[in-house]
Amino acid sequence: MSIIDKIKSLFGKKDAALAAPAPAPTTQKRNENIIEIKGITKVFDGVTVLDDLNLGIKRGQFVTLLGPSGCGKTTLLRLIAGFETPTEGEIYIEGTPITSIPPFKRPVNTVFQKYALFPHLNVFKNVAFGLKLKTIPDPTAKKGVRKFTKEEIADKVNRALKLVGLEDYGHRDVNSLSGGQQQRVAIARAIVCEPKVLLLDEPLGALDLKMRKEMQIELKKMHEDLGITFIFVTHDQEEALTMSDVVVVMNDGVIQQIDRPKKIYDEPKNAFVADFIGESNLLPGVMEKDYKIAFLGKSLACVDKGFEKNEKVDVVIRPEDIVIKAGAGKGDFDGEVLTTVFKGTYYEMIVLASGYEFTVQSQVEHRPGETVSLGIVPDSIHIMKKILTINKYLGKVADENLVTFLGGDFEVPTEGFEIGDEVVVYVPFDAVELTDDEEDGVIGATVTQSIYKGSYYQVQVYNDNDEDLYVDTADEWDMNDRVGVKVDGAKVRLERYAPDADEEETE
Ligand code: ATP
Repeated sequence: MSIIDKIKSLFGKKDAALAAPAPAPTTQKRNENIIEIKGITKVFDGVTVLDDLNLGIKRGQFVTLLGPSGCGKTTLLRLIAGFETPTEGEIYIEGTPITSIPPFKRPVNTVFQKYALFPHLNVFKNVAFGLKLKTIPDPTAKKGVRKFTKEEIADKVNRALKLVGLEDYGHRDVNSLSGGQQQRVAIARAIVCEPKVLLLDEPLGALDLKMRKEMQIELKKMHEDLGITFIFVTHDQEEALTMSDVVVVMNDGVIQQIDRPKKIYDEPKNAFVADFIGESNLLPGVMEKDYKIAFLGKSLACVDKGFEKNEKVDVVIRPEDIVIKAGAGKGDFDGEVLTTVFKGTYYEMIVLASGYEFTVQSQVEHRPGETVSLGIVPDSIHIMKKILTINKYLGKVADENLVTFLGGDFEVPTEGFEIGDEVVVYVPFDAVELTDDEEDGVIGATVTQSIYKGSYYQVQVYNDNDEDLYVDTADEWDMNDRVGVKVDGAKVRLERYAPDADEEETE
């Protein structure tokens, strides 16, 4: 059962993710891009958090920005809202560049995770707040503009409250509402001024799971009723796949894939997307030739072609695509079941085969300790080009301004960290320098490949622990050369290592 089917069965309703985009108002062209993001780069304190982003968002679509914590989703949303200015590039709304337009003059409104309601105002007044401040053009008025009348405000507020299912709640104190109801007030407040684009920054993040599921369905319905463009930020892949017309998967400030949810799941563009979206078995492989892939010591048929001979690739196999049979010799890999968990409609098993722990899903249960054989048909083997945008390692702060990673002690600013802290170390490709003499580097390494990228070479080396390092350099390096590796510490970014950060992150 695919994750899309799981989501369908979970909600017991039509697959919202695959529903047609909401109809746009007839005076506007549905297929036209309402937002164009062109070459957007954002740098904070010397760190590039968005790197040359390009994205077109069609009118009336429900678009989700999806990615792990820190990948730059909120920053992109804040750039559209006008709370940040881009370092480079421009954003256009309906063809107009908006960088110099202040936030309150942009045809967008934002719903934040923390509802930020006014505690001293009731529901009606919270929703009416923005309308009271707004002026509208009126040629008959002295200054050519006027405020909304009391009746107009009441009419608009009541319509917005009805849309979020709170028509009888106008008089209520906002503090007496549940989290979900408060979030609905926040949404009513954002849509009452009739923005063309609604920006939603993890709006369901503070709700409990049940409320979150209910609100997902309601938000999708609101989107259909309103017919405006929604840009939704989440790090929850199930939420993204369930609700969106289009998902934009981001990592490290770079867009990895833009596609419809089903395509993102079925045809991930690279190993990052495959790994981030749903369960998958991710293995290193070598494309021996067209239609022939080698991994875990076996050569298997696949449906992919067009790779270099013996190109290193990532192989993705979905757990539900593996055929598991009792006994040995019936499939491609023999192994032993390590664990079995019943997941409601299928069993999820971890099978150790050829040194790799496969995750396998099947309607048939196999018990721990059982010998099984795993069969993988060519169609189920997805081959991904190895795409890396930054080198990433686990490291440790060894001393003040000294971090151990890749088997060496590198000079890197450690402000804000303590000695002994475990850190994730991000090393941009252009922060690495290779030296002819191994002794001149902090560590020694061996060159595996040197690819000409038009104006520079991208060189791949590996250290004595077999860890890869990518380097952007002006020089070509010969395969198997021994080199020294230096790193420009000023360009390196450190993050506290928090293995469970995603699970803990409920805010
Ligand atoms: P999350 O899901 O955790 O909110 P995100 O994908 O929305 O993550 P952003 O909030 O956009 O990520 O942050 C991207 C990076 O930019 C992070 O490393 C963050 O620390 C950094 N960053 C964001 N805003 C600022 C700022 N005002 N000053 C300095 N760094 C910032």
